Amino acid sequence: MTAFLFTVVGVFGLAIGSFLNVVAYRVPAGISLMRESRCPECDAPIRWWQNVPVVSWVALRGRCANCAAPISGRYAVVEALTGVAFIAVAWWALRVAALARGPETGGPVMAAVTDPVFWIVLAAFLYFAAVSIVLTLIDLDTKRLPNSIVLPSVVVGIVLLALAAAVGGGWLAFLRALGGGAILYAFYFIVRAVSPRGMGGGDVKLAALVGLYLGWVGWATLAVGAFAAFLFGGLFGVALILLRRAKRKTAIPYGPWMIAGAWAGIAVGEPIGRWYVGMLGLS
Ligand SMILES: [Zn+2]
Repeated sequence: MTAFLFTVVGVFGLAIGSFLNVVAYRVPAGISLMRESRCPECDAPIRWWQNVPVVSWVALRGRCANCAAPISGRYAVVEALTGVAFIAVAWWALRVAALARGPETGGPVMAAVTDPVFWIVLAAFLYFAAVSIVLTLIDLDTKRLPNSIVLPSVVVGIVLLALAAAVGGGWLAFLRALGGGAILYAFYFIVRAVSPRGMGGGDVKLAALVGLYLGWVGWATLAVGAFAAFLFGGLFGVALILLRRAKRKTAIPYGPWMIAGAWAGIAVGEPIGRWYVGMLGLS
């Protein structure tokens, strides 16, 4: 049953990854997402069988079937990465569902898949994973985080997490999510006001989205996720300066680090929080 769920989610991830490649290329360029795919070199339309995630790129040996222009390996990497990320999110969502229900329900997988809340939470975090990947690509490419992706994602996140609360009664987690979004937004707003060079307005809006999801998982997740972003971004900046690839004032995209920190928080934030509370002797 678990293998079946992971297979379906993984294949879905490959397809979404293919779509994310299109979004990452077209949204910054202002091209409609509805337009059919064409080779950027020879303008030949790309047939569906030339567009199967990963498989087509390997079968075509990374070249256009019409003009043999090279197709970047990034497309296949993003597709594979999205598939793996979706499986990891499904595994995480199963664990969260099992923890919420306690160990007495025979087989956490069967118990989880019959619970609508599991599917809503899974949808919410798969959506966040997809947005994480596409925003990372766009920020690395253009050093921008488009409002047209970040702002609707905040709305989608709020709606899905509110739906999970309405169906499962987890309003405390939902309120914590709203609080997390507000706190992280305010925090980055102040950081940007103090040092406008280090941070873009897009980063501040992304903080609201990240805080929403981290807050839903828990306060420890919010704290660890926010700290990890500074740690990753700071270490990367220091490494670049040491390698003399950057000067102190070189603009480094911060969005990818905020996103990487967020997922580190989701993965290990709650265990670290419990360990910390235990160490202080509070539990
Ligand atoms: Zn071509």
